[in-house]
Amino acid sequence: MEQVVVVRGGHLLTMGPAGDLEDGAVAFAAGEVLAVGPFAEVAARFPGAEVVGDGHGVVLPGLVNAHTHLSEALLCGMGEDLTLLEWLAAIIAPASRHLTREMARVGAMLKGAELLLSGATCVNDMFCHTNLGSEASLGVVDGLEELGLRGVVAFGPEDMVEQDRHPVAAFLAEHEALAGRCAETELVGFRLGVGTVLGQTDELLAASARAAREHGWAVHTHLAEVREEVVSSRLRWGRTSVERAADVGLLEVPVVAGHGIWVSEPEIRLLAGAGVAIVHNPVANMLLGSGVCPLAALRGAGIPVGIGTDGPASNDSQNMLEAVKAAALLHKVARLDPRAVTAGDVLAMATIEGARALGLDGRIGSLEPGKRADVVRLRGDRPGLANVHDPRQQVVYCASVADVADVWVDGARRVADGRLVGPDLAALVEASRPLAADLVARAGLGEHSRLA
Ligand SMILES: [Zn+2]
Repeated sequence: MEQVVVVRGGHLLTMGPAGDLEDGAVAFAAGEVLAVGPFAEVAARFPGAEVVGDGHGVVLPGLVNAHTHLSEALLCGMGEDLTLLEWLAAIIAPASRHLTREMARVGAMLKGAELLLSGATCVNDMFCHTNLGSEASLGVVDGLEELGLRGVVAFGPEDMVEQDRHPVAAFLAEHEALAGRCAETELVGFRLGVGTVLGQTDELLAASARAAREHGWAVHTHLAEVREEVVSSRLRWGRTSVERAADVGLLEVPVVAGHGIWVSEPEIRLLAGAGVAIVHNPVANMLLGSGVCPLAALRGAGIPVGIGTDGPASNDSQNMLEAVKAAALLHKVARLDPRAVTAGDVLAMATIEGARALGLDGRIGSLEPGKRADVVRLRGDRPGLANVHDPRQQVVYCASVADVADVWVDGARRVADGRLVGPDLAALVEASRPLAADLVARAGLGEHSRLA
């Protein structure tokens, strides 16, 4: 029999039916959760188990980063003074024309490492590029596989700018190639990406919706991120981007969409009726000045809402703990009400609700027997969690990356005592440097980068 691992914490937040347990433990073997319960009971049931952790700190399910763009992995720290559409035109679009599969692989590992070290065990990525023929998006799968991070990967093209226009068949070919690459892996799933509804020609959008329906592919896109999107959509079609997505049949398959900020009440009902899931990205929304997601209205309508970092160039990090804390803070101050959202709400969104948004809640998002063993242990021997009065509040408001002691993905230990297991982090950083400099030079981003 496979070695059983028992992870013990002063508090175990299962985010499942077993609730929160004091001095609790989770046991797993061969990647599957076998039991959760009081440590004494779990330890007695598995006497030969390897025990990790003590009666301090907090153990919880791995966090689900439900929306990011690893295509931005090499572009952090540019354009803080730009709004979304300006930033896309000035930085993201030029870079998107020069991304390669190797940049994708190294970037996915670099930022994937940042995710693991901040307690994330699953990432929903939309790799946006227009360097067709490079099949760059497949590099994300290469990187996640090498790192051992669970993921869902989409290719999210846009072709409204003349320079980025290619035959629709060429875009569809990359979706198919990516789906094929994902099918070869255990840990990485596929979605069809639509960069944005507004950013695609009518021809590409219609073909994407048709391909999703024909293949039964779920979709990853953005909806209602900024007011300009709503206005431009109305000018173009007489419909908002949400309505347009419905019109072209895009909402007939499972859809997860970033943001959902500028949505009307009828649109919220439309999204809920279509089973669309939304991902809230508080840090990116604040940095770009995009707006405040109507979290209570969305969740009140029954829409699953996950939490995302959004891309490394619009956040500008992949620190998932920071995104969780920002989600709580943003809504308290925006509503001028500390009861607007609780630590329990945002932790649910970052785990089980995020998993539900991705259609993965049967496998991950909570610690329950039969689910995959994606587990995080936050240490109790540092200032953050030294005295735990309320484990939920302290995970959200007190814990930092330095408190992330151990992380398991599918039962495999990927972070041990705060250090990445497997790939050499220093070598990874080193490998990323010439790629970042090359990308800046090719994309002509000298104005925004000291690397030029
Ligand atoms: Zn995004």
